[in-house]
Amino acid sequence: MKICCKCKTEKNLHSFGKKAGEADGLQRRCKECRINEGKERRHKHREKLNSYDRDYREKNRLRIKLTLSQYYTKHINILVEQATNWRKQNLDRYNESARIRSRRHTINLTDSHIKRLLTQRTHITTSEIPQALIELKRIEISINRLIEETE
Ligand SMILES: [Zn+2]
Repeated sequence: MKICCKCKTEKNLHSFGKKAGEADGLQRRCKECRINEGKERRHKHREKLNSYDRDYREKNRLRIKLTLSQYYTKHINILVEQATNWRKQNLDRYNESARIRSRRHTINLTDSHIKRLLTQRTHITTSEIPQALIELKRIEISINRLIEETE
């Protein structure tokens, strides 16, 4: 048994990670405390990480777009198949959303329309949506329409 220097709880040795250089070869803080510290750290730096992500997406917009469209082109068959299987296994949910969809049957696929779809029921503002995500959603909608038409 060993006492964690953070939570001061006496714990079984398995509750401590290994650390070369410590007298007993174990971390001073228990695994649980270390996990929580990681979470706190990530939470604290969330703003910074988010803005880093945004910068990255902004700088690599074209590359991301290309990668996504290559991915979709390469895997279109499997994606359609997965979507079809999902629908068969989730008929209730599918029918419900089909009802909602049919109410706005004449939807267009402009960027601003897709942005609205993506931000519905979220705290995200439309300006935060990267272009690559819009392209992805547009493809998703197109695939769903394709499946609907083939049925
Ligand atoms: Zn602890």
